[in-house]
Amino acid sequence: MIRVLELSKNYGITRAVDNLAFTVERGEVLGFLGPNGAGKTTTMKMLTCYLPPSSGTAEIFGFDILKDSMEVRRRIGYLPENNPLYTDMDVSSFLELAAQLKGVKKDALKNSIDGVVERCGLGEVVRRKIGNLSKGFQQRVGIAQAIVNDPELLILDEPTIGLDPRQIIDIRSLIRDLGKDRTVILSSHILPEVSQVCDRIIIINNGRLVAVDSPDNLRDRLKRSSMTRVRIAGSGDIAVAERVISAIEGARVIRTGETGGDGSALVTVESSSDSDIRSALARKLIEADIPLLEIYSEELSLEDIFIRLVTEEGEA
Ligand code: ADP
Repeated sequence: MIRVLELSKNYGITRAVDNLAFTVERGEVLGFLGPNGAGKTTTMKMLTCYLPPSSGTAEIFGFDILKDSMEVRRRIGYLPENNPLYTDMDVSSFLELAAQLKGVKKDALKNSIDGVVERCGLGEVVRRKIGNLSKGFQQRVGIAQAIVNDPELLILDEPTIGLDPRQIIDIRSLIRDLGKDRTVILSSHILPEVSQVCDRIIIINNGRLVAVDSPDNLRDRLKRSSMTRVRIAGSGDIAVAERVISAIEGARVIRTGETGGDGSALVTVESSSDSDIRSALARKLIEADIPLLEIYSEELSLEDIFIRLVTEEGEA
């Protein structure tokens, strides 16, 4: 089990991580979600003993990151955000070097390397120079070096950043696979990523914890409000439409966006889930002579929830 105990980090006057406390169960895949600058990388660097906390500490499987840093390092595989690789080396020599640095015994070296090459799908590129590989394969090499000593905990900082959509799908499926037999902490600023891959999500903003829950529970927690989308033809006066909508009791315009090539606008309206505002919306808009094209209700997406949680926290 991993216990993060009131962890904080200041860079000069910037409080990057602010009294962060949470736990991770053994075997869990935990998503660490937050906008850029939220403090994700700083937290990961502290958990991996690369950066000393300003205050607080963490225990990784019973070992303290301050007092037992060697024991902690031995149990962690880490893929930093910029994935530092020796681009002049071939994949197999690089993995051999990584294994030696991590103290893999000589007689276990070949098995360890063959194992991660197989697990990370690197078979066809083992003899190739790392610098000549695609970004997707380079990321696999980064993950392979992180797990070459079979660590109990794998920490991945924004593992899909800069990859193309196909490579993203492959890396996510690799992470899911690796999560079957170890604990994984994965940081991301992309919601679908953590909701697809993780058992539980921790949301942080401005270095502080905003929410911890399963993707499903996070969605349920915010079910009290519902979203209605209203599409208005391009010929309509959007400012008037927004005023009419806002005047309906319990309705709040969240945003208005242009959609498609037809010039129509989509207005997103939030209301409490126990009142259906659709008929009132239709009546009022037609009375105001707004060219209404459609009205439909939508479940809150995780994206909406994320924005809500982060803004509510900011307002508080
Ligand atoms: P994230 O990984 O969520 O994008 P970071 O942990 O990188 O967030 O950064 C958190 C905050 O700390 C940001 O405001 C960032 O500008 C600041 N920060 C990060 N590293 C340093 C540093 N070495 N020196 C000063 N400020 C830093």
